[in-house]
Amino acid sequence: MSPKDNSSEKPKHRDHRELGRELELFTFSDLVGAGLPLWTPKGTLMRNLLDDFVWELRKKRGYEQVDIPHLTKKDLYETSGHWEKFGEELFHVTSREGHEFALKPMNCPHHTQIYAMRPRSYRELPVRYANTTKVYRDEQTGELGGLVRVRSITQDDAHVFCRREQFAKEIAAIWDIVEEFYGAFGFPLAPRLSLHDPEHMEKYLGEQALWEEMADSLRDIARGRGVRLHEQFGEAAFYGPKIDFVTTDSIGREWQVATIQLDMNLPERFDLACINENGERERIIMIHAAIMGSLERFMAILIEHYAGAFPFWLSPVQVAVVPVGEAHRGHAERIRATLAEAGVRAKAYSDDETLSKRIREIKTQKIPYFLVIGDKEAAAGCATLESRDAGTLGQCATEELLKRFADENARRA
Ligand SMILES: [Zn+2]
Repeated sequence: MSPKDNSSEKPKHRDHRELGRELELFTFSDLVGAGLPLWTPKGTLMRNLLDDFVWELRKKRGYEQVDIPHLTKKDLYETSGHWEKFGEELFHVTSREGHEFALKPMNCPHHTQIYAMRPRSYRELPVRYANTTKVYRDEQTGELGGLVRVRSITQDDAHVFCRREQFAKEIAAIWDIVEEFYGAFGFPLAPRLSLHDPEHMEKYLGEQALWEEMADSLRDIARGRGVRLHEQFGEAAFYGPKIDFVTTDSIGREWQVATIQLDMNLPERFDLACINENGERERIIMIHAAIMGSLERFMAILIEHYAGAFPFWLSPVQVAVVPVGEAHRGHAERIRATLAEAGVRAKAYSDDETLSKRIREIKTQKIPYFLVIGDKEAAAGCATLESRDAGTLGQCATEELLKRFADENARRA
C-alpha cells in the first residue's frame, strides 16, 4: 500500500507530518503509543467532511448505515479465516473470565452477522451496508510512518450482499461513487483489474463460468465509461476478482486508493443465502467497497497533494476576518457572526498583534480567504476580500460574500 515514488526527494513543505503539526490537524502522544494518531478539532472536522461526502454519494444509491463493536470473540475470525490470515497482526484481548477476543482487523465478518440475523428474501436484495469505523492492526514499530501506516485505521467500509445477476449493476454504482469522489479533488484514476489464472482454476473458489462472467461484466462497465482497464491475470484473490484504482498526486506519485472486490468466500464460510423465487436457498455474492480506504492514509495523500492549501469546502477555517485596528473590531465581529450564521467557518483575527503579524499567521495557516476591515470598509459597511490563491479581489458587501462562499461550498471548489 505504499506509494510508488516517481519523483526525487519529497520537498519538505509537503510532508504531511510537518504540515499536520503546523496546521494542527493531528498529533501523536508517547503515552498513547506509536501508530495511534489523535485527531484535533480541525483534523476531525476535515475527516467528517470527507466522510459526509462519501456518505452523500452512497445514500443516493441505497446504502444504509450500520454500526459494530470494535471487539469480537475469536470464533468470528475462526469462521471467517481472519484468525489465521492476520496471525500476528491481530491485537488479542483476554476477558477476565479467560475468553479470547480480538480487536477487529476487518469489518466484513461483523457485517455478515447483521445480514445473517434472519432469513432474507430475494426481494430484499441487494442489501447494502456502509460503516465508517476503525480497525486495528499490530504493525511493527519500525514500519510505522506518520499517517500512511498506523495501528488504528479508520475505514469508510461498505458491503453489498446480492445475487449473481445483480453484481454488475452494483459495481457500476460503486464505480460512479469512486469517480465522483476522486473527481472532486482532480485526481485522475487508473483502474487495474485483478483476474483469475484460467490455466489454474483449482486455485480459485467457484466455477470458471462465474469467474468469466465477472471478468466480462467488469470489462463491459469499463468499456461503457470509455476507460482502459489494465488487466492482470493470476492476480485475483482465491475468492474473487477485484478492481484497484490508482491515482497520481500533484507531484507525480502513484497511490492505490479505492478498491472494489467481489467475494464468494465469506458467503460460503458464513452460509449466507437468500430465499429465491422458487422458495430455495440460494448462495449470494458479497462485494467489498472502500472509497477512501484508510482515512488516515487518504488525509496524508490530501495534505501532501495540496501542500496543506485545501480547497474551500474542506478548509477547517475558511475565512479569516481581520480588523485593521481596535476601532474596526465591532464591524468585523458583525461580519464574522453573519458568515458563521450562514454556515461559513469564519474566525476573527483581532488580537493585539500587529496587522502584518496576523496576516502572516493567516498565510501560514493557508486559510483560503481573509477579509480586511479598516476605516473605508467600516464606513461603507463592507470588507476587502483577499484570496489565498488569487490575491486581492476588492471590496465586497456581505451579501456578495455569502453568495460566493455558498457557491464554492456547493461546488466543492
Ligand atoms: Zn470487506
